[in-house]
Amino acid sequence: MSLENKVAIVTGAARGIGFAIAKRFIMDGAKVVIADVDDEAGHAAEDDLKSLGEVTHIHCNVAERLDVRNLVAETLNAYGDIDVLVNNAGIVVGAEFLELEEEDFDKVLSINLKGAFLCSQAVARHMVESVENGGSPGAIINISSINSVVAIPNQLPYCVSKGGLSQLTKVTALSLAPYGIRVNAIGPGSIMTDMLAAVNADPAARNRILSRTPMERIGEPSEIAGVAAFLASSDASYVTGQTIFADGGRLPLNYTVAVPDDVS
Ligand code: NAP
Repeated sequence: MSLENKVAIVTGAARGIGFAIAKRFIMDGAKVVIADVDDEAGHAAEDDLKSLGEVTHIHCNVAERLDVRNLVAETLNAYGDIDVLVNNAGIVVGAEFLELEEEDFDKVLSINLKGAFLCSQAVARHMVESVENGGSPGAIINISSINSVVAIPNQLPYCVSKGGLSQLTKVTALSLAPYGIRVNAIGPGSIMTDMLAAVNADPAARNRILSRTPMERIGEPSEIAGVAAFLASSDASYVTGQTIFADGGRLPLNYTVAVPDDVS
């Protein structure tokens, strides 16, 4: 198995894309730490996955430096190493630009962007030390979005945070390349999770998504997990500083496509 005996931390893995990544990593042989702010959902996810392999939930608000420090310490205590970090925890707060509250801007940036920085730095410090002591180099994966490139008018903090993740990915990749540690990102299009539930329940909103999705469907979390499994594995051993967009063809599209049963 491609991640046999590897130790992976996946943030925000109590549900959605993070859960699918945790599941795929366990199936590929990794020991997985679910790092989520929601302990009830985190423990439920741990219970769901433990029949497949080694998995532990550790409470962590990625925006809090002490939580992140504790996450790294507890993971090392439990498993002795960290080979893979997936910065997946993320939130959306929608508001028109002219009405956007400063505290909502700060909240989204602190989780989506600062959280990824805090986790990356804390884990990378361990990874570098491990390489210097003869260990094999690890990999960091940031879950970005197509909104790192294209924008939505009422989602300013989200789009800014994902744009920032692109540069975090590149700068971190360059800084850690001399150690062989790879840093990449995945840019999902619209994926069927709780984050998308409201949009998916509204036929007009769903049509808007499908009209810009050449593959004519919303993606599944497992389709992001597959890309994460590749980037975490040695199959991606010469790939660093990249964002792979898994978006059903959304970004290359420069027009709209016809949607069967369009209700708009
Ligand atoms: P989700 O279903 O809302 O799951 C996100 C998980 O992260 C939840 O368990 C959430 O807990 C947790 N979380 C929130 N704040 C946290 C924090 N401060 N520290 C640790 N965990 C925290 O979201 P998703 O749709 O799977 O999205 C996962 C990632 O993919 C996000 O970065 C998102 O931006 C990105 N993405 C998603 C889509 C999509 O269409 N779904 C598209 C592009 C990119 P709570 O539920 O308690 O908040």
